[in-house]
Amino acid sequence: METNPHAFGRRIGELLDRIARVAREAQFSDGLNPAQWEALRYLARANRYSRSPGSLAEYLGCTKGTVSQTLIALEQKGYVIRERDPVDRRGMRLELSEAGRAAVERDPILALERAAEGLDDDVRGPLVKGLSRLLYDLQTERGIRRFGVCHDCALHCCDGHEAHPAGANHCGATGEEIQSGEEQRICANFATAAE
Ligand code: SF4
Repeated sequence: METNPHAFGRRIGELLDRIARVAREAQFSDGLNPAQWEALRYLARANRYSRSPGSLAEYLGCTKGTVSQTLIALEQKGYVIRERDPVDRRGMRLELSEAGRAAVERDPILALERAAEGLDDDVRGPLVKGLSRLLYDLQTERGIRRFGVCHDCALHCCDGHEAHPAGANHCGATGEEIQSGEEQRICANFATAAE
C-alpha cells in the first residue's frame, strides 16, 4: 500500500468514483432514475422547514428547473404531492404519498448500505469519520451549503441549555419546539458553530 499523501489521494478518488458509478447504475430501477431516487430519499428525511422545491434543489446541487422536471415525473408516478406551505402561503411544500413512502422502502441504495454493514467494526468508524471530513472540506472549498440535523446544529437549544428564551429542545432559528422524531431529520436551516 502506498504511503505518500498524493498516492493515497489518487487511490481514494478512484475508489469513490467507482463506488459512485456502482451506486448510480443501481438507481436506474423501478422506472426511476438516480435524481428521482435521491429526491424521494431527501423528502423521506427532510424536516418540515426543508420540504420545498428550493431546498431540494440546493440539497441536490442542481437548478430549480432540473428539480422541477424531477418533481413533475415523481408527481406523475404518484410518489410526491405538492401542496401550499401552511406557514408561507406563497411557497409550496412537498410530501411523499403512501406510494412514495413504499418506494423508499425498496430504495436500491439500501443494497449499498447492506454492503457497508458487512464491513468490520474497526473499518466502519474511521471510514465514516474520514468520508465526513472529506465531504465537509469539499463543501467548504466549493461554497456548497451544508444540510444537517438538530443534534449537530448550533441553533439547537437542547435540554440543559438556558441561553434561549424559548427553552429546551427548541429551534433557535424559528423558536418552535422540535417535536419527537424531528431531531434526526435533515434541515435546510442547519448551522455549524462557525456560521
Ligand atoms: S435546530 Fe437547526 S437543524 Fe434543527 S430545525 Fe432548527 S435550524 Fe434546523
